[in-house]
Amino acid sequence: MRKREKLGIIRNYYPNAMTTIDSLNKLVDFIDDELDIDPSNVMLADSICSDDVNSIQYPSRALELLGPFKMGGLDGFPFTGLTGMGAFASHVPNDGAVFIYYGPHIGVTKTGIIGEINRHGQTKNSSCCGAAKGALKKLMANEIIEGNISEIDYQMNIIEQMLLRQKDRILTAPNPIFEATEVIYEAIDERINELVSRTEYHCKYVVLVGAILINSDTDMGSFTSTKRFDVIDLETNKRKSFLE
Ligand SMILES: [Zn+2]
Repeated sequence: MRKREKLGIIRNYYPNAMTTIDSLNKLVDFIDDELDIDPSNVMLADSICSDDVNSIQYPSRALELLGPFKMGGLDGFPFTGLTGMGAFASHVPNDGAVFIYYGPHIGVTKTGIIGEINRHGQTKNSSCCGAAKGALKKLMANEIIEGNISEIDYQMNIIEQMLLRQKDRILTAPNPIFEATEVIYEAIDERINELVSRTEYHCKYVVLVGAILINSDTDMGSFTSTKRFDVIDLETNKRKSFLE
């Protein structure tokens, strides 16, 4: 399938989606050309779901950057918290930058089904994001208990509580898994910005890219629908959006 056809399927749900490879290429060029920083001095941190598909579909050009530091747990929420953010902030070269890519993920199959992907060697599709779909199923069945956060399934319980707080919005939406993913994005975006504001960096810039990461079938690859592209100049503390 040609790239144009693949994008056609994904853009039915996410009109500004690009292949993850293209969006990373653009970002690396931006850091080099606009910020005048050698990509080898950029520390990448990602806050994306632990799902193996995200390792399988990880863009190889990311290896030109330092890292990645892995902040995300289930569906990309930054579960490593302040300690994680502080840790990699202290690993960045002084003349360099921090680049944080974050967001939930969702599957779109090449037949256009949202919330699923066809994984390598499997005849049947499986859930993507499994955690978001699991929490949504419990939400629909009224099985999420307010305030229930256990040690054995801590991350999942946090996702469940997130959806419970936006129950009506999700269940009345035309596409509940799409909407649940938007809700999770908003929670991740809010938390990442809070973590950034409470962390000290000893480098030149913090680059924030918030997105919905869209996985597809093995032969389709992955896509990115960018929602935030901010650069914080740490010398002036000014923030500028570069989202087109
Ligand atoms: Zn997931």
